[in-house]
Amino acid sequence: MRQLAELYAPLPRTRLAALPTPLERGPELPKGGRLWVKRDDLTGLGLGGNKARKLEFLVGAAKAAGAKSLITVGAAQSNHCRVTAAAGAALGMGVHLVTSGVKPVRAEGNQLLDQLFGAQIHYVGCPPSHWGELEIVRESLTAELEAQGEAPYSIPIGGSTPIGALGYLLAYVEMIDQFDARGLDVPTIVVTSSSGGTHAGLVAGRALLRAMGRKPLPEILAVGVSQGVINGSPDIAELAAQTLTLLGYEPRHCETMVSDRDIELDGRWMGEAYGVPTPEADEAIVWGARNGGWVLDRVYSGKGLAGLLGAARAGRWRDGGDVVFVHTGGHPALFASGGMPPLDPGH
Ligand SMILES: *Cc1c(COP(=O)(O)O)cnc(C)c1O
Repeated sequence: MRQLAELYAPLPRTRLAALPTPLERGPELPKGGRLWVKRDDLTGLGLGGNKARKLEFLVGAAKAAGAKSLITVGAAQSNHCRVTAAAGAALGMGVHLVTSGVKPVRAEGNQLLDQLFGAQIHYVGCPPSHWGELEIVRESLTAELEAQGEAPYSIPIGGSTPIGALGYLLAYVEMIDQFDARGLDVPTIVVTSSSGGTHAGLVAGRALLRAMGRKPLPEILAVGVSQGVINGSPDIAELAAQTLTLLGYEPRHCETMVSDRDIELDGRWMGEAYGVPTPEADEAIVWGARNGGWVLDRVYSGKGLAGLLGAARAGRWRDGGDVVFVHTGGHPALFASGGMPPLDPGH
C-alpha cells in the first residue's frame, strides 16, 4: 500500500517498536470461528504492549518540538507510564511520571520497571481511576518544569491524543497486509479499550482504507475496561476523525469519513470498576495461557479476551471466520501484588 505510506511518511516518528508484530494462529472458538492473536504484547520497548506504537508518534512530535523530557500520567501499575519510561531511557530523555497512590515500600510489576528505567515518579496519593485529579497534577507539573526551562513534552493519560492514535491507524494497515498475505477472512478485530486511543486509531485506519476503496474491511469490536471510555469519553468517532486530519485531509471531510456506526464498544466486561478483577477475566487469562501460552493481565487484556469469548459463546461467529484479538500487553502487572489468585492445574 504505497500510496498510503506517502500519506504518513512526512509525520515525525521515532522508531521504538519492533514491527510488524507477529500474527499467531490460535484455537477454534466456542460456537465457531478461529482465534488469531496479534502480538502487540511483543512490541519490544520496555517489555512491550500497545503504548510503544503510540509513543513512536508522540516522541516523534516531542523531538520535533525540541523537547528534552517527557511527562505523563497513569495508575500506579500503568503500562503506559512504564513504556514511556523505557522510551526516555532509550533516547536519553528525562521522564516524569504522575501516578496514583503513594510511594510503595517495595516496588512491584510496572512500578519496579519505572524505577529501573530511571523515571522520576510523582505520587499523587489518589485512587487509580481518579484520572481528572492526575491530569491536573500533570498540567501543573508541566507548567513548573517549563518555568524551570526544561522544555518538557506532556502526554495525556494513555497517550490517547490524535498523534498517539496514529500508531494504531498504522497497526490497522499492518494487520490488513498480514491478513492478505495469509489469505485470512477476518470479520472482526477485537481490542481492549481504556483511554480510547487504540480503538480510535484502528477506527481511523479502517476509515482511511474504506475511503481508498478497499474492501472487505474487518469491523472493530472494543471491550471497555474503564468507566470513562464506556461512558463515551473520549468520543471515539471524534478522536478517529482528528487522527485522520493529521494525514492532511480537511477536518470537515474527516468528520464524514467516520460515523457512529463504526464504533462498537462493549462495556459489560469491566466489572465493578477499572482495575478491579472479574471472574470472567480471570477465566479468560487461564484460557489464554492454557490454549496458546499467551500472558494476559487482570486490568486490561484479560477483560478484553473475556469480552471476545463472551461474544463467541453468544454465537457471533457461528458462520466461522478468522477472529483477531489484539493482545495489547500488560503482563508486568501480573507480577504485582494481587496479580493473580491461586489456580488449579490444567488438563
Ligand atoms: C493502555 C492499555 C490498553 C488500552 O489502550 P487505550 O488506548 O488506553 O484504550 C489495553 N491494554 C493494555 C495492556 C494497556 O496497557
